[in-house]
This record gives sequence, C-alpha cells and structure tokens, in this order.
Amino acid sequence: EATIEVSGLRKRFGQTRALDGMTFGVQAGQVTGFVGPNGAGKSTTMRVVLGLDAADEGTALVGGRPYTSLTSPLRHVGALLDAGALQPSRTARNHLLWLAHSQGFAAARVDEVIDLVGLGTVARRKAGGFSLGMRQRLGIAAALLGDPPVLMLDEPFNGLDPEGIVWIRGLLRSLAAEGRAVLVSSHLMSELQDTAGHLVVVGRGKVVADTSVARLIERA
Ligand code: ADP
Ligand code: ADP
Repeated sequence: EATIEVSGLRKRFGQTRALDGMTFGVQAGQVTGFVGPNGAGKSTTMRVVLGLDAADEGTALVGGRPYTSLTSPLRHVGALLDAGALQPSRTARNHLLWLAHSQGFAAARVDEVIDLVGLGTVARRKAGGFSLGMRQRLGIAAALLGDPPVLMLDEPFNGLDPEGIVWIRGLLRSLAAEGRAVLVSSHLMSELQDTAGHLVVVGRGKVVADTSVARLIERA
C-alpha cells in the first residue's frame, strides 16, 4: 500500500483540463520523481493531495486517509509549494520560530531544521534579502519542522546553483533513506534521474510512464 495514493483525479479550471485521470502511488523509503513539462498538472496534483484544491473527480489519500481528515496533518506531511511565500522582514530563524509556534512544534526543532538545510550562517538575516536558492532551503526547513513521514516538494531545484542542486539531491536521498515517502516535482528529468528510484512521468494531466529508474535504463 502506497503512502500517497492518487487515483483518477480530474480537475478543470474553466476550459483547461488540468488533471485528466491522474493516478499513481508514492512508497516510503525512496524518492519518487514527478516529472513533466510545465502545465502537466504536477502542482495541481500536490495541491489536491493537500486539500488546497478540490478535484472534480477521483481520490487522494495520505497514509490511507484524506489529508483533511488527519488529526495533525503537519506532523504527517511536509510540503514545499511556493518558495517565494515568506515574510521578507523576518529573519529566517524568526520565520521558522513563528511557524513552529503557530503549528505547536518545539522551538528547539527550529535550530535542528536550520542545520539540516544548511542555513546556519544566514539564519539571523532577513529572509527578504535571500536568493531563491536560500528561500528554497528555508521552505524545505519549514516543511521539515513537524518531522513528517511524507514530503512533497514542488520544483525544489528552481533557482538553485549547481552546488545547491547537488546539495538538495543528497538531502532528498537521506530523507528517503530514513524511511520517508518523498515526492519531488521537476520539469527536467535530468534533475531527478540520479536521485529518484521511482519516476512518475506526466503530461497533459495524466501519467505517461510509471517506472523504476533501473527499468527505464534497461529498456533504453
Ligand atoms: P505543472 O505544475 O505541471 O506546471 P499545473 O498543475 O500548475 O502544472 O497546471 C496545470 C494546468 O492547469 C495548466 O494549464 C495551468 O495553467 C492550469 N492551472 C493551474 N492552476 C490554475 C488556476 N488556479 N486557474 C486556472 N488555471 C490553472
Ligand atoms: P489519530 O486520529 O489517531 O490521531 P493520526 O492522523 O494522528 O490519527 O494518525 C494515526 C497514526 O497513523 C499515527 O501513528 C501516524 O504516525 C500514522 N500516520 C498518519 N498519516 C500518516 C502518513 N501520511 N504516513 C505515515 N504514517 C501516517
């Protein structure tokens, strides 16, 4: 049984068919790459899983239950959806302290996640001056606050320099090796092929290939 189970999701925005039967599962213990061109429906799928968008049809379950029925959802699912969204006038650390406080997480966890994402040297600077790469790290830190078994990261490589991309890949692998289910989207296969053990390739709102990287290479 998959930790995230997406089944037959359909969703229209006006005339746009964003999801057209999206179906796949995400297992714990590995990185699942969610790959496809811009507009393929990756973000919408994640938003539906998180209950931020309603699907017209289909189901999305986390640990066998709808996200909105989890008692403490932020302890089960950490998400990075839009790395741009943060209070620019707060320091990175104060931003995380505020999130931890509002979500009922221990303040001590803040310094742990700052170390985990490598923001130690800039944690006391205002986040408004952060590069997109530093914002991505801050967003990942926020997603890790509740130490969730499930992570969903939408385009975490955006805006990162090559060093940052290598760093995020390592972090994703180690988070999965600890037994988490990790779903990571990208419009570039090259960003995920060495990191994801499982690839879900999507286009026009549905899955066009669902395979292990090993099997994909065998076929080539
Ligand atoms: P991806 O994340 O793969 O780039 P999205 O899920 O963001 O794809 O978008 C899928 C399709 O749905 C696109 O055509 C996009 O323009 C459309 N879409 C997404 N969100 C909205 C929205 N809030 N209003 C209208 N159209 C939307
Ligand atoms: P309750 O209503 O009993 O508080 P919870 O939603 O808190 O239910 O979850 C009950 C158990 O299921 C917890 O031990 C939690 O760790 C586990 N669990 C819930 N969601 C997930 C998930 N997405 N992935 C893994 N384990 C989960």
